[in-house]
Amino acid sequence: MKPDQSKRGTDAPATRRRSRRYRLAFAGLTVIVVAVAGWYGYDRLALQAPGAGQEAGRSAAVEPAPAVKPKPEAVEFRMTGFERGWVRYADGVVKSTEDGGATWKESAAAVPQGQSASGGTAEGAASPDSAAAWDFGPGGPPKPESAVYETKPYPVKQSQFITDRVGWALVSGLESPDVPPLLLTTDGGRTWRLGMPAEAGEALQAEEIRLRQAQEEAAMYAAAGAAQARQAGWSVQPEQASPGDVVLVRRGEPGEVAWQGKTYKLQPFGAGYYTYLPISMQVKPGDYAIGDRTLTVKAKTFETQRLTVSKQMESMKRETERIQADQKKIDAARSRSEPEFLFASEFRQPVEGILTTPYGYTRYVNGKLDSTHTAIDLAAKEGTPIHATNDGIVALADSLYLTGNSIYIDHGMGLFSQYAHLSELRVKTGARVKRGDVIGLVGTTGFSTGPHLHFTFWAHNVPVNPNLFFGSTPFRWGSAKP
Ligand SMILES: [Zn+2]
Repeated sequence: MKPDQSKRGTDAPATRRRSRRYRLAFAGLTVIVVAVAGWYGYDRLALQAPGAGQEAGRSAAVEPAPAVKPKPEAVEFRMTGFERGWVRYADGVVKSTEDGGATWKESAAAVPQGQSASGGTAEGAASPDSAAAWDFGPGGPPKPESAVYETKPYPVKQSQFITDRVGWALVSGLESPDVPPLLLTTDGGRTWRLGMPAEAGEALQAEEIRLRQAQEEAAMYAAAGAAQARQAGWSVQPEQASPGDVVLVRRGEPGEVAWQGKTYKLQPFGAGYYTYLPISMQVKPGDYAIGDRTLTVKAKTFETQRLTVSKQMESMKRETERIQADQKKIDAARSRSEPEFLFASEFRQPVEGILTTPYGYTRYVNGKLDSTHTAIDLAAKEGTPIHATNDGIVALADSLYLTGNSIYIDHGMGLFSQYAHLSELRVKTGARVKRGDVIGLVGTTGFSTGPHLHFTFWAHNVPVNPNLFFGSTPFRWGSAKP
């Protein structure tokens, strides 16, 4: 943008001052011309044909240029989280925000490497700072073509959504002197705002929590099948089960499930709503509708076990008053469960031992039908440490008549693990335990013929097969695997 060299040679010394003023004015006008040309995208044309610029400059001298300098167009943007992002202008200037778009600063650094949106697709899911982004499902993130701001629709040049609700749209033709023409939505694109009004800030904070919860939920699933299970409809894991099993039901929205004469309320977790459904030993084989899914209960035969015990032991079962008093304690302990999943990793076997009685055995004691053994018995040396199967809260640690020293651990959402016949209790009711913590020692207290751990799970007060849990979690009971 140098003054025209050919003009300098023709200037006489007497007219030098006037000529300098002219040259300065001309230089200034050229700046405006080039800026205007740049605004319209003709910068290359103007530079290649100075004559054209000169002519335009002269006509501008007649009609003074407007006081507001035309701004270069915002051409691309990227939000790297709820607060941070940048906008790049046609002249290469990059403005960045650290408060979700309330304020913008010209940043010295160019567009961060590998973050340029140009060359890639204009729309797309965000890659927030955290690794796991929102799961938009098969439809992908919203792709608005226009965004309505103050009743006027503006064409969208580029959009980006961090969740299904929160997104930004860079629009054309919107006059916004202080901030880039970047509109924000917190309701999935129904309404758009410019900048960061207070209520939008609150909505963003709430959405940040929602995204974190969704990421927590996603982390519960094995990578494969996670997206499928987290779709808006229903999921039942697994879809094929047997009496004694338990299934995990998820729905994308609140509600309840009717099952075997009871109603189970779906509890919020992550982006979904959950409940366990216990399949008691009495459930008949067949297909059952759970929301829009089908749960198939397959027949399973359980074996029979015959035990011989002393007459004294046999008489224990007749102490109905003590047994009922204990049952009240147990019922009270299992009547409250944390409305969240208290575990994060897989369940573990609480003790190394020999499986002496599997789950579901029909038990005869001294020749008489006694009960169905809805637990596993693991024989081990007296005093062997017993580990918590997973994280939870001790709902009951007490000495009971039939089950001896007993522990119930709440794992949340109506799921408890039970440990019986311990020689020693190492935890107290109300304690928080981590997976693997030593909670007691193997013994033979209560109705027991030798040192062993009687262990089971209770889902909504129905005893269910522990073998499903070991080395896994209900979230990983894929629908393909029974
Ligand atoms: Zn047992």
